[in-house]
Amino acid sequence: MNTAVQSVGVLSFEEAYEVVRHRCDRILKAENRPSEEVLLMQGLGRVLAEPITADRDFPPFPRATRDGFAVRADDLASGLTLLRVVGQVRAGDSYDLPLASGEAVEIMTGAAVPAGADAVVMVEYTQRKTQEVDHEGTQRKEAGDRGGIGDDDNVLDIASNESPKQQEKRTEELVEIQRTVASGENVVPAGAEAQAGQELLPRGVRLRSAQIALAAAAGKASVKVYRKPKVTILSTGDELVEVAEKPGPSQIRNSNSYSLAALVAECGGEPVQLPIAPDEEGKLTELIQEGLKADMLLLSGGVSMGKFDLVEQALKALGAKFFFTGALIQPGKPVVFGEVGAVPFFGLPGNPVSVMVTFELFGRQMVEALSGAEPERMKSAKAKLKKDFKTKMGLTRFLPARLDGGLDDPEVEVVPWQGSGDMLAAARANCYLVVPPDREKLAKGEMVTVVIG
Ligand code: AMP
Ligand code: MG
Repeated sequence: MNTAVQSVGVLSFEEAYEVVRHRCDRILKAENRPSEEVLLMQGLGRVLAEPITADRDFPPFPRATRDGFAVRADDLASGLTLLRVVGQVRAGDSYDLPLASGEAVEIMTGAAVPAGADAVVMVEYTQRKTQEVDHEGTQRKEAGDRGGIGDDDNVLDIASNESPKQQEKRTEELVEIQRTVASGENVVPAGAEAQAGQELLPRGVRLRSAQIALAAAAGKASVKVYRKPKVTILSTGDELVEVAEKPGPSQIRNSNSYSLAALVAECGGEPVQLPIAPDEEGKLTELIQEGLKADMLLLSGGVSMGKFDLVEQALKALGAKFFFTGALIQPGKPVVFGEVGAVPFFGLPGNPVSVMVTFELFGRQMVEALSGAEPERMKSAKAKLKKDFKTKMGLTRFLPARLDGGLDDPEVEVVPWQGSGDMLAAARANCYLVVPPDREKLAKGEMVTVVIG
């Protein structure tokens, strides 16, 4: 262990987090990040390299938000309760005449509200009726309820069912409206969500389901996204063998390259796994140099105080600048962060849980920034602790835990574990319980913070 390197500094969790955050902000400002055009669905999880704008108003027409009758609110306000049903608009249709006073149009959710109408009365507050009128339109006799709700008949059908002898009379479709509506009720005006030409999604937004839907609605069959950052992963350790190899009695399989590759892929990077590096400086240096050809390098192992922990030394020899060489956390205290030239690297402690926790706390935001997206703040929540918990003060702990319970009563419990090497604990957990450095004991029933990966 090189003592000059060690003196760079061990930071508190918050300090270390902010240091990484600060570097992320600088990376985000980079110009000319390479981009590519991909089919919309291939854009899922990727980051927009150019804004998406509205090709027309959203919604493109005044949209009914309920099934019912499009009316003039003023008619109802002035005491009219029986309106003439002059037509029907289904979603995708239009009713092209302006609605006159005393008229209503039957309308379905999602359909265009006709001109002249300014509100929709929900079908639940209406009752369809018919009445016979003479050819001048004077009322003769009101017929009984036609059981109106959801009735698909329309004015035209009824007219065509009439016999020629009754031509001087006709049956008129009416609707009784049982409550008044405010102007604009159950209608989203054209352009209320966005107007044609307006930015729907800015550059730098990650495309998740809602953003994919918006892009689709704006007619984007393909989108311009940033190229995924290449993140090389280099596991170090003489004890390691590749997954497909048979380990000797004192060897272990290289699982960290896989947890890291999975985490990198999850947050939008392109993981590139390098061969295992031995604890020997020459070969290790060679592989680090290879790893530095990418946008970011993740190293696993070799950053503790042991005689064969050579990672920092090798990096220093390659001109690395260190931002911190440890953080007051558990697991993961020996975590290292720096840059060689413009390439950021993290030296993550090799224990399988440490590697995952330190990536979650520090590495994730860097991959996000390199993808061209503002890193998300850590997702945390409060939950009720299920059992008393004792620890030592001095370190911020992120312990594999299980969050259960309903929406209103989230409960959390630390997963029993054999320490930072216990991958099974990590696999059983669905969050990390955060224990602040000034707490020795957390009591059952206390509201505690959890971080969700
Ligand atoms: P180190 O940080 O190099 O001292 O590694 C600590 C411990 O983590 C080692 O003794 C291994 O048991 C374990 N370990 C290190 N690297 C890996 C790896 N790539 N995959 C799985 N376990 C590892
Ligand atoms: Mg090692």
